[in-house]
Amino acid sequence: MPFLSTPLRQTITELTEQEHTPFFVYDLDGLLSHLKPLTEQSVVKLWYAVKANPLSKVIQTLDKAGFDFDVASSGELDQVLRQDIDASRVLNTGPAKSKRQIQHFLSQGVRTFVAESHNQVQWLNEAATEHDIQLRILLRVQLRWPEGEKNPLGGDSLTPFGLGTEQWQSLQLDTYPALNFVGLHIFQWGNMLCTEKLAQLWAQMVPPLKALAENLGFTLEVLDLGGGLGIPYSENDDQLTWSALIDALAQIKTSAGVTELWMELGRYAVGEFGHYANPVVEKKQNYNEHQLIVSGGINHLLRPAVTTQAFPCTLLRYSGATSHSYLIHGPLCTALDHLGRHTLPGDINAQDWLVFSQCGAYGFTESMPYFLCHELPAEYVIEHGEVRQVRAMQNASDYLR
Ligand SMILES: *Cc1c(COP(=O)(O)O)cnc(C)c1O
Repeated sequence: MPFLSTPLRQTITELTEQEHTPFFVYDLDGLLSHLKPLTEQSVVKLWYAVKANPLSKVIQTLDKAGFDFDVASSGELDQVLRQDIDASRVLNTGPAKSKRQIQHFLSQGVRTFVAESHNQVQWLNEAATEHDIQLRILLRVQLRWPEGEKNPLGGDSLTPFGLGTEQWQSLQLDTYPALNFVGLHIFQWGNMLCTEKLAQLWAQMVPPLKALAENLGFTLEVLDLGGGLGIPYSENDDQLTWSALIDALAQIKTSAGVTELWMELGRYAVGEFGHYANPVVEKKQNYNEHQLIVSGGINHLLRPAVTTQAFPCTLLRYSGATSHSYLIHGPLCTALDHLGRHTLPGDINAQDWLVFSQCGAYGFTESMPYFLCHELPAEYVIEHGEVRQVRAMQNASDYLR
């Protein structure tokens, strides 16, 4: 399947008649039909990791599909609540839960938390006691494998997410009477495209997690496996099959002996339903390379600079011209502003638009929009077949002070 469908190409072509700067388009109809089957099973409860794309209309679509919401900041929480979603459907993960943030979450009605440190456990208990409420708590675990042993993750780099089993071991659960410890959370992989590899990874995590719950003296009712389900960013990438994933998850649920399995999906939920249209500024030949300079770069799409993985790119206009390999550069005065190497028709010119696909997750809000004072991109949605602007383009004079 091409990354840019014919109807979307048509819609974006029409929008380029009124827009002169880069913009995003989110296909909410496609998104809803992708999401609905995901929740139609009884193996895993699904939360939407809001950081992947916090746009109001995207959150509303996840709501329609039956997802609950995983947030990691007061800003994300407020955005979810503004879409008329009840706080009882919110889960709070994240390494930086200040006392002040915890107070805000409790006062808004959030009751489910993933604790990532001893301090978080302490502070959640204090705040819950003060509010005279009980909280549901999952402890976030960061696993390592002994030197020399086969490590499914291929590396042991330390992250701020959760604590090792040894560090959790000393927690005295009965000293936190306002907290109801229901489960464990583990998530330390990303953009995985192979079900067998994921299944193997999850399976290796079950024994140490069961042992930890037993040592801490609580019943492991919930196992939360985070996110990390991948989407293809090039035509040669594999693609996950939901039914195969569900089969693998059902086995993990049985072997972990839990009553509930949870996941928070970001990329896999929304990644394939966003596109970014970007005008070509000029084409030039430099040494032996064809270079394209485009209007928007890592100021609107940072991900290629931090992962070195490009978003797939298509020329908006149909062209039968012979293809070239192009290096694509954004407008920022840093060599980091590079959107990848792409094979595109040789007749591209300064009137053309390129479309980058798979930009529905980790697109605009992950980026660095203010650097060099370019325009902020407009955001459009397609819903019930109609195109609507959710956010207008903004000039630097609108946001600089
Ligand atoms: C970012 C994040 C996710 C979502 O990850 P994806 O790989 O986009 O699915 C899930 N859980 C937590 C705690 C996260 O921080």
